[in-house]
Amino acid sequence: MSSIITAVVGFATATLLWFFFKPPFGKNIVRLNTQQRSVALTFDDGPHPPYTERLLDVLAKHNVKATFFMIGNRIEKHAETVHRVIAEGHQLGNHSYSHPVLGFLPPSIVQREIERTDSLLRQVGVTGEIVFRAPILTRFLPVAWVLAKENRTHISCNVWSWDWTTQNPDRIVQSVLKKVKPGSIIVFHDGKAENAQANRSGTVEATDRIIAALKREGYQFSTIL
Ligand SMILES: [Zn+2]
Repeated sequence: MSSIITAVVGFATATLLWFFFKPPFGKNIVRLNTQQRSVALTFDDGPHPPYTERLLDVLAKHNVKATFFMIGNRIEKHAETVHRVIAEGHQLGNHSYSHPVLGFLPPSIVQREIERTDSLLRQVGVTGEIVFRAPILTRFLPVAWVLAKENRTHISCNVWSWDWTTQNPDRIVQSVLKKVKPGSIIVFHDGKAENAQANRSGTVEATDRIIAALKREGYQFSTIL
């Protein structure tokens, strides 16, 4: 008897955890909807001068457009960088206002974090649907619920550069190139949420080499949605 109770409680707990951490509703994109050799480069946690600017130089050199998921309180600090990202034709996305682990917060705070950055992005001239990515990709129940209410899509990824664990460009290049395939959404970081001084030279150099390598393999580069 007790083994049946244990099994039932275990099953119920697993179901609740699954429902919380992987909500079975709402839209979540992990890859582009294409079979073509096309990938999306995405950069989180900026704007973060001078590394965002150095990335813009690299992207301009290769004539590639990318998506920058920005933190609201950094948009406020680095308006010039933001204007350059827009002027050069890149896509700006919302990565919350202050980069908390959004998935563990109540929906009212989640909503406020998203709205503050939406309104900053509107002020700098972003039009149309604003793409959103939760900090640390925590599309847990409160985040999924807030997004679903507004019929918004969460933008995840399927290739990690691991540039938040290393700034060794060789390792970043290797991590990306061994996983990339048609439709991949690749996540890099031009900033670091918890360190306003973080060095992102490795990400900049790796991005340059990754674009060159993918172009040699016939890949094109796309933004999201
Ligand atoms: Zn982040």
